[in-house]
Amino acid sequence: RVVVVGSINMDLVVRCAHFPQPGETIAARSLQEVSGGKGANQAVSAACAGGNVSMIGRVGDDAFGGRLIQGLKNFGVNCDSVQPTANCESGLALISVEDSGQNAIMIVAGANGRLSADDIETFRQLIQTSDAVLLQLETPLATVLRVIEIARECETRVILDPAPAPTVCPDELLQVDLICPNEQEAAQLSGLPVESLEQIELAARSLYQRGARHVVITLGAQGAYLYDDQGGRLIPAFATTVVDTTAAGDAFVGALAIRWIETDDLEEAIRFGNAAGSIAATRLGAQPSMGSRTEIEQLWKS
Ligand code: ADP
Repeated sequence: RVVVVGSINMDLVVRCAHFPQPGETIAARSLQEVSGGKGANQAVSAACAGGNVSMIGRVGDDAFGGRLIQGLKNFGVNCDSVQPTANCESGLALISVEDSGQNAIMIVAGANGRLSADDIETFRQLIQTSDAVLLQLETPLATVLRVIEIARECETRVILDPAPAPTVCPDELLQVDLICPNEQEAAQLSGLPVESLEQIELAARSLYQRGARHVVITLGAQGAYLYDDQGGRLIPAFATTVVDTTAAGDAFVGALAIRWIETDDLEEAIRFGNAAGSIAATRLGAQPSMGSRTEIEQLWKS
């Protein structure tokens, strides 16, 4: 069983010919409402990969709140621990996409910003009876640190996707079983350049030395780089035709978590995550792009 503690957002995607200049009003082409938020995306990925998944988070008391919870339930995610928040809006991402493909994004934390360390105490038992807890950084840092503390009192594995990368990274944040940044986040967290494979190894090692038991840096089309007490190695991706890489990282970590708790073999779990990430990259959108267990296994065994 996996529990995800994290953000739940409604993404409002507006398409337009070009971004408006300050003071300008333009007609947009379309508006699309899509469920998102890194926490919710990872919960959906883990559920699609065959996991028994619960979500801890907050939504607002607006119309989006109910739709966000229903969307998660439709993917089989247990939402008993998702709390509606009085006098608060749901987390929102306002995403403008130009015809050129360029995007501009504003995020309103809304109810995600109200998920407190006290809330986490309420759900202590759920965290401690789960095999793994998945965390990201779209909820307050103090909340994330409390989850790490509670999980470390027992056998629950902590998997942290450090996105968005924090400007300052306390060492407590690295006391996790697995941290899986992408290249930019790894550079920001380690303060080191991350371009060549040698640099990737050095950045991964530095996060390992600061306390993370396993470090996995995701490398897009190249796959993922694992560093732990066995040293470093590259686990290559599955070649694919990219359509939209939105949430490839969320697909990767959700599926990895499920396979890791099933087999206790992290390299195998990374290959499983690579397959899930590559499937998500071939489809449009975040949550609708997640592959099913059968699809992931087909690619993974190929
Ligand atoms: P993020 O979306 O967080 O930036 P990445 O782009 O590194 O993360 O992607 C996460 C994982 O998804 C990669 O490790 C890889 O397994 C898979 N993936 C992403 N892009 C591609 C691609 N172009 N081809 C194949 N696999 C991909």
